[in-house]
Amino acid sequence: MLQIAVIGAGPAGYYTAEALAKTLGAVKVDIIDRLPTPFGLIRAGVAPDHQSIKAVTKRYEATAASDGIGFIGNLEIGNAVTIDELRGLYDAVVLATGAPNDRPLGIPGEDLPGVLGSGAFVGWYNGHPDFADLAVTLAHCGVAVVGNGNVAIDVARIIAKTPDELGSSDIVAHASAELLNSAVCDIHIIGRRGPHQASFTPKEMGELGQLQRAQPFVAAGDLPLEADDAALEPGLRKTVGHLRSFAATPHKGLPVAIHFDFFYRPVAIEGDGRVERLIVERTRLEDGRAVGTGEMRTIDCGLVVSCIGYQTPSIPGVPHDDGAGRFASDSGRIAPGLYAVGWAQHGPTGTIGTNRPDAFAIAEMIAADSAGPESGRAGRAGLEAIIVARGLKTTSFADWRAIDSAEMARARTGAPREKFVRRDEMLAATKD
Ligand code: NAP
Repeated sequence: MLQIAVIGAGPAGYYTAEALAKTLGAVKVDIIDRLPTPFGLIRAGVAPDHQSIKAVTKRYEATAASDGIGFIGNLEIGNAVTIDELRGLYDAVVLATGAPNDRPLGIPGEDLPGVLGSGAFVGWYNGHPDFADLAVTLAHCGVAVVGNGNVAIDVARIIAKTPDELGSSDIVAHASAELLNSAVCDIHIIGRRGPHQASFTPKEMGELGQLQRAQPFVAAGDLPLEADDAALEPGLRKTVGHLRSFAATPHKGLPVAIHFDFFYRPVAIEGDGRVERLIVERTRLEDGRAVGTGEMRTIDCGLVVSCIGYQTPSIPGVPHDDGAGRFASDSGRIAPGLYAVGWAQHGPTGTIGTNRPDAFAIAEMIAADSAGPESGRAGRAGLEAIIVARGLKTTSFADWRAIDSAEMARARTGAPREKFVRRDEMLAATKD
């Protein structure tokens, strides 16, 4: 029976385990994650007020309960165990590590306190242990959110919502406390191109029009001719329809304004010791690309969140395309017995569900590459021997269930769960 290690317990990892089981029949798959908890972006990336999206973990729970599928958490491959060690133990290793690192903006002032990438900011309000101590303050009126994708919408919406609107979310306590004292009144969503080039999806855009204390504003002059909407694909046409209705809605007198600042690109961030303003340049489109016009504008803000995409960090011993920010592969095949899937393979695009067909494609590739006599590799037993020899504290799926139960038990009334935000809290909640 083939023994396969999948690194990364997010959607790409669990869909790959499911696909391997369905494609190969009898197989042993160990899903390994550097965090003590599984589910990757579902736990630490999906917006805490989008609980229906998080329900997809039921499917991953079913995969986890299948014969031959294991979970080993709190184990960092490339650090505690090398990729070569893992490749020696398993017939195939699949990298499903996602794209957790923020792409830099590449402008002066980016390192000032108060300038955050969306991975960090979203991780902060979602309880990712790497960002539990992130210094976030919402004590200023202005916030600049750079990017015209769904992550920018998530970030703007979470900042704009009232504590009451977040009552049934699983936002973590430190973020709720900051939001409770929020002084934010102007949220700027900055797009270097226009409404027809945005990556927002209609459902997320529609939600912005329904907020209790915030109103979205679009400058009518930034909207293309309505007749040109007909050429858009249906989803984007609907999104642009929402933007048109925002532009036509009279001022409701709500305390928070969400400004869509289309056709502006960030050029510098300034402030004395921390961010105080973002300098943007007006753009125009040339062959679909944003080019600067030289016309500058200052946006006063105490927080800049750049939502401009992510990169996959390298792992020692694995070919990496640094420019593209992902592993170097031929449609997922990196080297004999080594594969990449999901965002680690093709970059940070697509929905959670997009990972499923990707996973089946990799499973088919592994099945085709693995035909032949059994290798007799040590697999899980060999990895467990290394874990014991190095005194590593890892977590099992049973441990995750204990963490899950403890989080459910801590939940505030009406809230789905109250997450642990530190590794040691998570580990303390496990059985041993
Ligand atoms: P995205 O959709 O690729 O959007 C990135 C945005 O950043 C684009 O508007 C891009 O503009 C802009 N950008 C890139 N570099 C820039 C720069 N240097 N200066 C200014 N702007 C820059 O990425 P995302 O929002 O991170 O989302 C990632 C994926 O997750 C997407 O597929 C998204 O749909 C998905 N997602 C889905 C949901 C949901 O379904 N609820 C929620 C969150 C994320 P250009 O177009 O001009 O390059």
